[in-house]
Amino acid sequence: MHPIKLIIIAILLYLGYRLLTSNRRKRLNKNTNNSASDTKADGVIEDVLVEDPICHKLVPKQQAVRLKLKDTDTIVYFCSEKCCNLFVTQEGEKK
Ligand SMILES: [Zn+2]
Repeated sequence: MHPIKLIIIAILLYLGYRLLTSNRRKRLNKNTNNSASDTKADGVIEDVLVEDPICHKLVPKQQAVRLKLKDTDTIVYFCSEKCCNLFVTQEGEKK
């Protein structure tokens, strides 16, 4: 093999290695700075699924419509305003 080819291969390997390590370092920095957006980027953990009590659909907590119950102080999550309103009217009928 020509020696120049060997040098080129060595440089490419080095660049590839640098790329891998710098990516890893960036990810680590992100983790310490703002974990919320980073976990979202990786598509894991942050989006906890909550169940809509009306249509029983599973919704990511961050996108869900929240309703705080006055009596118990618990928070109920809904897929949409529509389900939230339905829940409110149903709760009203119970009383
Ligand atoms: Zn719903």
